[in-house]
Amino acid sequence: MANQYFFDARIFPCTRCGKPYRSRKAMYTHFRFSCENKRTFFCNLCNAAYFYSHHLKRHIRQQHVELASKVVVTQGVVD
Ligand SMILES: [Zn+2]
Ligand SMILES: [Zn+2]
Repeated sequence: MANQYFFDARIFPCTRCGKPYRSRKAMYTHFRFSCENKRTFFCNLCNAAYFYSHHLKRHIRQQHVELASKVVVTQGVVD
């Protein structure tokens, strides 16, 4: 009885590092923005992050069509 919340809780483990989250959304937020902090290419329009510059460029073309020519691709490491 006392521990029912633990057993009832649905866990969404990060598919990369296994860190557990209570919601899929929280897990995806972690996965996209902070998991292992290895994503180094950032979209400065929506903060999407990618491992490869060509993935970010594809994202910009697909998600920010009208702004694609103005986007500056930045590379860095998240703390
Ligand atoms: Zn993770
Ligand atoms: Zn974006």
